[in-house]
Amino acid sequence: MKSICILGATGSIGDSTLNVLRKHPDKFRVHSLTAHTNADKIIQLATEFKPEHVVVTDVDAYQLVRQQLTVQNTQIHCGSAALEEVVAEATVDLVVAGIVGNAGMASVLAAVQAGKTLLLANKESIVAAGELVMPVVQQTAARIIPLDSEHNAIYQCLGSEYQTGVRPDGVKSITLTASGGPFWQTEASQFKHITPAQAVAHPKWDMGAKISIDSATLMNKGLEIIEAHWLFDMPNQDINVLVHPQSIIHSMVNYIDGSVLAQMGCPDMQIPISHGLGLGQRLINDASFLDLLQQQQLTFYVADTDKFSCLQLAREAMVVGGTAPAILNAANEVSVAAFLAGQIRFDQIGQINDRILNAIQANQVESLAHLQDLDIEVRFKTETLINSQQ
Ligand code: NDP
Ligand code: MG
Repeated sequence: MKSICILGATGSIGDSTLNVLRKHPDKFRVHSLTAHTNADKIIQLATEFKPEHVVVTDVDAYQLVRQQLTVQNTQIHCGSAALEEVVAEATVDLVVAGIVGNAGMASVLAAVQAGKTLLLANKESIVAAGELVMPVVQQTAARIIPLDSEHNAIYQCLGSEYQTGVRPDGVKSITLTASGGPFWQTEASQFKHITPAQAVAHPKWDMGAKISIDSATLMNKGLEIIEAHWLFDMPNQDINVLVHPQSIIHSMVNYIDGSVLAQMGCPDMQIPISHGLGLGQRLINDASFLDLLQQQQLTFYVADTDKFSCLQLAREAMVVGGTAPAILNAANEVSVAAFLAGQIRFDQIGQINDRILNAIQANQVESLAHLQDLDIEVRFKTETLINSQQ
């Protein structure tokens, strides 16, 4: 019986994880669940799973949960510091990092510092803080198991060869596939007319709003290049990207002898999540089985970095290194939120990210506090730029 802490239990990754856990009550015990604003959902989940701890980071939502959650023996905590405490509890075996954005960074670092097995969906934290997190992994013997479908595909192909943050022997390069999002065939001249509703409607994956916009701009693939760099210790030139609109091949490992291993499946996050939770053992879930006869064609295209500038920006930030990925990531969080709020156009997301990445000097990453201060600075400068354009 593994004891599990789910950060971001009220989100899309939380939903898929809990769906898998419902199938395996004999294998997993929910130790803790966390939410930010969604009081109703965390009350419902805590009533169902009866965790030892619930953390609610938004103060108003916390007050509601305190008043309304009536499960005995569940302690309710408020604020982000409590996230770092629950992940480090001695009885926790697995931590699922399902918080969106930089808000998940401190808890990811805390889990790794506590030597836990971290099932990582929250790519932004590794993008911004990879330089801090990876040395700690080596010191504490923590493990990071990728849940992001591309990285989980590579982890599945590598099998026992995978060791967090170590380049596997015999690997020439890796290929991350990208669905291309809803607009990979749309003319760049039309980007200014794209509405938030159109951009959130991903053709293949059902996900939270932020990652859906990142998929539409291909920033998601850019963040995933940086994520792959840290998880598999691969340099920029050994990480390829291919647009594969069917989203059946989730990524590939290219070996020095010409062999290519790929992992396939229907686009359903329950598949990588069950694989991560199983730690080598296959677990059943509700995902559909792949029928290649129905699929008929698997196609591949080069990603257009002129049209999708965010993909190129991410590579540039990775090559600069230091705080550059954190700067790009924070700018992107603000520009995506501004697009969703109707403050900027779709085509401005990349332009704003570019301006901010080039306006702020990248330095060495010193500490979590350094990254958190930087995050505040970048957010302020990005918001100021956005406001100045209105
Ligand atoms: P959602 O928006 O669906 O869920 C986000 C979760 O994070 C919610 O539980 C939310 O709480 C919580 N949260 C939001 N802001 C904060 C905050 N400031 N402090 C603490 N918790 C917060 O996102 P997804 O589940 O789609 O994505 C989660 C992460 O997983 C992202 O990093 C994404 O890139 C990654 N990922 C997601 C995939 C997917 O299929 N969804 C696939 C691959 C990676 P509440 O709702 O209560 O406010
Ligand atoms: Mg992905």
